Amino acid sequence: MDFSLNDSQLAIVDSVDRLCAGFDDAYWLERDRSGDFPFEFHRAMADAGFLGIAMPEAYGGAGLGVTEAAVMMHRVAASPGAMSACSSIHINIFGPHPIVVFGNEEQRASWLPDLIAGKLFSCFGVTEPDAGLNTTRIRTRAERSGNGYVVNGRKVWTTTAQEASKIMLLARTTALEECGKPTDGLSLFYTDLDRNYCDVRVIDKMGRKAVDSNEIFIDGLPVPLEDRIGEEGQGFRYLLHSLNPERVLVGLEAVGIGQNALDRAVRYARDRVVFDRPIGQNQSIQHPLAECWMELEAAYLMAMKGAALYDAGEACGAECNAAKYLGAEAGFKACTQAVMTHGGMGYAREYHVERLMREVMICRIAPVSPQLILCYIAERVLGLPRSY
Ligand SMILES: Cc1cc2nc3c(=O)[nH]c(=O)nc-3n(C[C@H](O)[C@H](O)[C@H](O)COP(=O)(O)OP(=O)(O)OC[C@H]3O[C@@H](n4cnc5c(N)ncnc54)[C@H](O)[C@@H]3O)c2cc1C
Repeated sequence: MDFSLNDSQLAIVDSVDRLCAGFDDAYWLERDRSGDFPFEFHRAMADAGFLGIAMPEAYGGAGLGVTEAAVMMHRVAASPGAMSACSSIHINIFGPHPIVVFGNEEQRASWLPDLIAGKLFSCFGVTEPDAGLNTTRIRTRAERSGNGYVVNGRKVWTTTAQEASKIMLLARTTALEECGKPTDGLSLFYTDLDRNYCDVRVIDKMGRKAVDSNEIFIDGLPVPLEDRIGEEGQGFRYLLHSLNPERVLVGLEAVGIGQNALDRAVRYARDRVVFDRPIGQNQSIQHPLAECWMELEAAYLMAMKGAALYDAGEACGAECNAAKYLGAEAGFKACTQAVMTHGGMGYAREYHVERLMREVMICRIAPVSPQLILCYIAERVLGLPRSY
């Protein structure tokens, strides 16, 4: 058992840290105020070859594993860019996975190089207002028409849909009542987000203003047959394949944000003098920060275990779910504690910890809630009856 990063992983840490140093607190605070997308950061990551870190070399990727992608996203998250920086590139890292695994050669060759080179943006349209976490209840329909489909429906919380020209879209192709299992009859498409048929509206939200979240109203979108990934009706299974890597990445992103907040809290606790002593000399300030350090370290190890199991082709559902849960909870606790350690200044934008706290909240909510992870562990690991 070796807990240390190898040389090539350390090189990733080094070059991501150096790249992120070019995008400081002021850059991200300004974007948090203006809501302007961080195109410069996205470009820099693409130019450095990071967008294709886990994509096949044949299409311009680096052909590395989820472990390397996780190492990279952990460092991006720990930079001043936090979740805004992560979300601006997140979809490139795990989003194309179904194309790699289930797409045909023509689809891989025509879609992957542009995504890897950062030439275009895509988005991920799964969540719907009426289905929530029960994905099998989505109502967006893709009906056969001529040599393709016509799609009608609605998606919500679609990240980067303002910039995207492509969408990875989950739609029902067979009515739920006609399916043997609710997970049947869903199909996955990678297609043009054609504004003539898609009305994309920004959702005003708590944090991460620079990376847009959207509602998409789809009205008669024509989708050619060539844009369907794999077989009709198998879309849900294809999506499941990318869930474990995504859980690892989100867990480590939360850890990175939490560690950034913890560093800021420790610095402030050393410097701030009240009652003639640094506030960090008080155990009521020290102990919660020490707890945060331990919880962040433990969550990091669980995420790296999940990534290692995934890359080794072993069962990893429990570890990847646990990594997402533990990372998000530890990250959120560290950010909250950092705000409290700063006292009134924790509430001031110039100290950045309130921004980190607003952003890390996303890691708790998406892509799956803490409650549903607890249900998964209870059912799949502990063997308790399904509760939902
Ligand atoms: C900033 C942001 C970005 C996002 N980006 C994307 C994206 O790019 N693409 C995309 O498709 N989606 C995206 N999402 C959506 C996200 O994945 C969903 O919000 C998330 O899956 C939760 O679904 P929901 O909001 O419908 O919650 P709901 O399903 O309505 O659940 C609400 C609450 O009820 C709880 N709950 C529901 N059922 C049960 C049960 N049986 N037992 C216990 N508790 C239960 C949940 O745990 C949760 O706490 C994003 C969300 C956010 C906030």
